[in-house]
Amino acid sequence: MEKPKSPKHVKMSPLASAAEKMPAQRKTAVKRKPAARRPRIPYTKDEIREIFRRFSIQRPEPKGELEHVNPFTLVVAVALSAQATDAGVNKATRALFAVADTPEKMLALGEDKVRDYIKTIGLYRNKAKNVIALSRKLVDDFGGEVPRTEDELVTLPGVGRKTANVVMSMAFGVPTLAVDTHVFRIGNRLRIAPGKTPDEVEAAFLRIIPEDYLFHAHHWLILHGRYCCKARKPECERCVIADICKSKEKTTDVPAPLVELPA
Ligand code: SF4
Repeated sequence: MEKPKSPKHVKMSPLASAAEKMPAQRKTAVKRKPAARRPRIPYTKDEIREIFRRFSIQRPEPKGELEHVNPFTLVVAVALSAQATDAGVNKATRALFAVADTPEKMLALGEDKVRDYIKTIGLYRNKAKNVIALSRKLVDDFGGEVPRTEDELVTLPGVGRKTANVVMSMAFGVPTLAVDTHVFRIGNRLRIAPGKTPDEVEAAFLRIIPEDYLFHAHHWLILHGRYCCKARKPECERCVIADICKSKEKTTDVPAPLVELPA
């Protein structure tokens, strides 16, 4: 999972688990942040709801591209994706997961062989160590199952809070908001969820995103940032929220036609 200053992003798998579509699980409690130090934002509640409504029409079921076949392989894939492209991670993990899709099998494979499988990925030596260490911890402390809470997930080697959020959302249907470089940029550029740190931006987004849009908000924001509100130069003429956006960088007030985009 990338950090905002490192221009990578997490893309989720088209093979994402069915849990992504389980409405019952989407109601699981989200850690909403305390009310302290809330910056004023130049959007009304109605405008915020309209932004996410339009995103939901553009991408009714947003998906990412980091391949996995179960919660364990998702944890591994997300942990491997730091400082790496999703395509590069997928290329390596396809072969790795074909032989080791459980913590037990990963331990049996051993660190040297894991390293061979992922040697095309940046920081592969350290990541191979972490994959083995987190597999061992899963077996020793969690009965070989991926835990469902953030507090437990972050005890796994190589798993930080953002990775935990992605895993909770993708594997278990918990609506969380992992802040990557795109989410961070959009929060600040649009002045909709400003913050100096990813945690501040996360807290700001969690305060304003309507509950019913929260589950997909992470992907909508990432995809909007990746394909439209790009880092170097936002493509405002292609933007469906150009009339609402309050960014000082925007170049038009005319929104693009609101149509569903190809998956
Ligand atoms: S109008 Fe431009 S700056 Fe605003 S969200 Fe759209 S692409 Fe980004």
